[in-house]
Amino acid sequence: MNNNSLLSHRNEEPENGILYMVGTPIGNLNDISQRALNILKNVSFIACEDTRQTKKIMNKFNISNKLISFNKHNSSIKIPKIIKDLREGKSIAIVSDAGMPGICDPGEDIARCLKCEGIDIICIPGACAAITALVSSGLPSSNFVFEGFLPKKQIDREKILLDISKNEKTTIIYESPKRLRKLLKQLFEFCGGDREIIVARELTKKFEEHVGNNINDVIDFFKDKDIIGEITIVIKGINKGDLKIDKLTIKKDLNDLINAGLSLSAASKYLAKKNGIKKSEVYNMI
Ligand code: SAM
Repeated sequence: MNNNSLLSHRNEEPENGILYMVGTPIGNLNDISQRALNILKNVSFIACEDTRQTKKIMNKFNISNKLISFNKHNSSIKIPKIIKDLREGKSIAIVSDAGMPGICDPGEDIARCLKCEGIDIICIPGACAAITALVSSGLPSSNFVFEGFLPKKQIDREKILLDISKNEKTTIIYESPKRLRKLLKQLFEFCGGDREIIVARELTKKFEEHVGNNINDVIDFFKDKDIIGEITIVIKGINKGDLKIDKLTIKKDLNDLINAGLSLSAASKYLAKKNGIKKSEVYNMI
């Protein structure tokens, strides 16, 4: 199949040799599409992150089909088997526990491998927590950055927090309820308490809630609460030209770096990168 035939793909029944990445609900089972149900019913088998989760959908919609487990622990063994099955003409669906496979869920690696092997992938679109949170946040939603789960390693994490503090685009983050307080504290440190933010909890579920408006309010809201459920955070970008350059701090940092042995040029280059400004602007502050 070439790229043009992919574009004109209209067949509702699964086709031999194709992998279907099927979006499933992020809470409300009624969010599944007719097309997804049809594919799940008619593929040769379904590769799912957790068979118990997928069975909930199968039972609700009276679908019986073979399920195999496919997750981050067994994907390196399962991917070659799936490729072999596809080459032999089977049609296969990949589903994660919730939402779109491949978005912080198993699916990304197999999609990459299949692309390299020249095997076709069709996505059956469904709910995604990031997009659901973004659209309901009321924050600018046409240009955004999706960070998924922030890295745990401090240096990598701080780099992304710094990027978020300077970004003009809306940022979306996934976080576990256990770590939400720590993340909010860090967002406060990097972005300040006034930055607009929405914490979306339990989207599409019975106790769905959207907590805002700024980082101070959200920290206050969760202060004495047991935080449970699934959480997606949407952070507004800064307004164009709003990046406050703290000249005094930059001058002090420059002195410290030079005293520590860095050349003026190296210190300026480092501070320019750190503060998202030009090297010449650092020179001009001296
Ligand atoms: N593949 C999924 C998707 O398309 O959204 C994301 C899977 S990722 C492993 C799970 C994270 O997504 C959760 O920790 C949470 O941050 C977010 N999430 C999933 N369901 C959610 C919901 N109903 N409400 C809010 N956030 C949710």
